[in-house]
Amino acid sequence: MAQIYDRVALIGLGLIASSMFWAMKRGGLAGEVTGFARSAETRQTARDIGLCDVVCDDILDAVRDADLVVLCVPVGVMGAVAAQIAPALKQGATVTDVGSVKRDVIDSVAPHLPEGVHFVAGHPLAGTEHSGPTSGFAELFDNRWCLLVPAEGSDPAATAQLRHLWEGMGSKVEEMDADHHDLVLAVTSHAPHLIAYTMVGVADDLRRVTDSEVIQYSAAGFRDFTRIAASDPTMWRDVFLSNKDATLEILGRFTEELFALQRAIRQGDGDHLHAYFTRTRAIRRGIIEAGQDTDAPDFGRGGKA
Ligand code: NAP
Repeated sequence: MAQIYDRVALIGLGLIASSMFWAMKRGGLAGEVTGFARSAETRQTARDIGLCDVVCDDILDAVRDADLVVLCVPVGVMGAVAAQIAPALKQGATVTDVGSVKRDVIDSVAPHLPEGVHFVAGHPLAGTEHSGPTSGFAELFDNRWCLLVPAEGSDPAATAQLRHLWEGMGSKVEEMDADHHDLVLAVTSHAPHLIAYTMVGVADDLRRVTDSEVIQYSAAGFRDFTRIAASDPTMWRDVFLSNKDATLEILGRFTEELFALQRAIRQGDGDHLHAYFTRTRAIRRGIIEAGQDTDAPDFGRGGKA
């Protein structure tokens, strides 16, 4: 595949940045990739494993000549990082991010970016519960969606170039409005994570069963909850704080449905339960048909997730 950017800077060197690096190398998509992480420990690990062509100790050195700068830090610090890098950004460069929430990130990053720098926010719908520089792998984005949110009035050529990069890393790309993105993700990712955290918390409260039986007899449903609930606490704290309205809206609807199911169980209303589960089963089939998951017991993640 052809090179798409001469120089790419990855800011934050965790799961997403490291997967991007290996995916860019796999496809020969970037000439040189520089990287920066907050802690000296992460920078050293990155050097040890060959993550990035150059790992910089100064964030400004990492972005200075970059044609594309990718913010791969938790959503809550995107604005502060944008303010830090702004003075060193090259004219004509593109800044993007990979944050799981879009409206809050756009509102906190855009005001810091100088004239002549293109801002195209992004979100790859791919991840695992693992984090840190050693957790990434080149295949993470294969056949997964990446949603792009170009800033109003931005240069379509900058968006097209970023789209090519994501396609080169294996993704399918769609453009989406920021508020719509946040509502869709509240339904498909954010609320389900909160429910998983809750369920695992409830099981943990029932210490009688947790100590041995929950772990030993862990069935598929609970096992999947524990996998999701093992996700990075900082990342998910920031997601809920920055996608507050959409998440609360979906959780409100969830609670209503839960009460309806609770009532059906109490009243022995099997018809209600059966009809509900028939409807949800069809949604699962739709996801498999859309190629977003498989019927395999490991959910097609090849043991990596
Ligand atoms: P991660 O593995 O935890 O890595 C986060 C990186 O950000 C680390 O290098 C960390 O540096 C750095 N960082 C943390 N706080 C910072 C701060 N205050 N200032 C500067 N750097 C800081 O995270 P990730 O899973 O790659 O997630 C990165 C972004 O991708 C998040 O915005 C998340 O919402 C989004 N995302 C995640 C997933 C997923 O499933 N994980 C999926 C899609 C999108 P140190 O190592 O030095 O602490």
